[in-house]
Amino acid sequence: MNERDSDSAAALLIAAGHQFTANEDDADIFILNTCSVREQAERKAIGKLGIMKRLKEKKPDMIFGIMGCMAQSRGEELLQSIKHLDFAAGTDQIHMIPELVEDILKERKKSYLGDRTSPDSPGIDSHRFEPGEKQYSAFVSIMRGCSRFCSYCIVPFVRGPERSRDAASIVNECKMLAERGVKEIMLLGQNVAAYGMDNTAPPPPPGVSPFADLLTQINDIEGLCRIRFTSPHPAFFNDRLIQAVAELPKVCKCVHLPLQSGSDPVLKRMNRPYTAEQYLNVIRSLRALVPDITFSTDVIVGFPGETEEDFNATRRVMAEAAYDNAYIFKYSPRKGTKSAKWEDDVPQEIKEERNRILLEDMEQALEKRNRALSGRVFDVLAEGPSKRNPNRWQGRTDTFKNVVFLPPPGVKEGDIIPVKIARTTAMTLYGEIPDGM
Ligand code: SAH
Ligand code: SF4
Repeated sequence: MNERDSDSAAALLIAAGHQFTANEDDADIFILNTCSVREQAERKAIGKLGIMKRLKEKKPDMIFGIMGCMAQSRGEELLQSIKHLDFAAGTDQIHMIPELVEDILKERKKSYLGDRTSPDSPGIDSHRFEPGEKQYSAFVSIMRGCSRFCSYCIVPFVRGPERSRDAASIVNECKMLAERGVKEIMLLGQNVAAYGMDNTAPPPPPGVSPFADLLTQINDIEGLCRIRFTSPHPAFFNDRLIQAVAELPKVCKCVHLPLQSGSDPVLKRMNRPYTAEQYLNVIRSLRALVPDITFSTDVIVGFPGETEEDFNATRRVMAEAAYDNAYIFKYSPRKGTKSAKWEDDVPQEIKEERNRILLEDMEQALEKRNRALSGRVFDVLAEGPSKRNPNRWQGRTDTFKNVVFLPPPGVKEGDIIPVKIARTTAMTLYGEIPDGM
């Protein structure tokens, strides 16, 4: 999501006559996009702010701003304490960045903007395209904010309440991207399964899913091949959405479904309104309809009061869900959230150990499952030369498995080609173009 916001800001500045550079030393305007979800992210941003001081000393006219969660929550304080910082643009103020820069060019004065805006405020649909370059993949934000208030999470405080964009404007943006050669779109939001049902409590009425309706419209766009999305909240993933994911051919058969914990008492304290069984039922229903579907997840270890028994419940749910990928986070108290008032009582070593165990469990099971894929042929979206061995290319199946293969002559980034799997590891499938293709 932050990447999408950075891209919007860059596109808006380019439209205002500025040029993009990937090199910090060449920049006359430098904007640091920040995240507050975990303390470590904030610490990293503070470190980077310090490093920027040196750049500004070399180039005193440089304009230096911050955007994102930290700009929203601590922008005014940071402008006061950091002499070389010129502006802070809150999470809903990306469209104002070119104007902020213009104002600073005219009159050197520190500015903070932190108001909330409508979800369709200008700029949310701006994309930066490198001249002459074909981009096969793009992010599209479909909503702003989050109203779930999971007890550990800072997002609702820094990104404001859920506000869904107008469906027609999202579909137009996707059409524009498809016309520019984009093949794959990733739809973004903190709670995409609740798209179009802003601020309502789960579960949604049976058969109702404005997000499924949106997927259906995007699925009809000519030229687009793959649609992905992140993150859906399990409590909003109803039968209508399950059906849409299973039936719409362009919707990728890989779902990121954040679990957070497999223990019901912990889920309750986290204010995640589902049980482990209800969560698994979403997984079971999707697997029954699409046997090859893959899942990924987010899990927090060491939430206040998490016992060995709670942790083992998470292990069991993860074993049944059989994920392809899991982002395991060690609980980090965030000021202002409900759980920050509770004692952070799971020692760091235990958090680390639980983190390691979950990843090891997953990798072992995944290695075994991947082995069964040898000999099968998958359509792979070619992404370009592999990082490890540039003679090979890397791509993704629509289940988001990473595939490394010898590129056939004339293959271009964004092409979808068949690859026959010859050998596998937990993280990668290795294959070749089948004979006669
Ligand atoms: N809206 C998304 C999550 C956005 S934050 C969703 O609900 O799926 C990304 C992940 O960061 C969360 O899923 C959670 O696992 C993790 N996270 C959020 N707050 C955290 C905290 N205080 N400590 C540790 N991990 C946290
Ligand atoms: Fe945070 Fe929960 Fe909203 Fe995700 S759904 S952003 S974890 S409050």
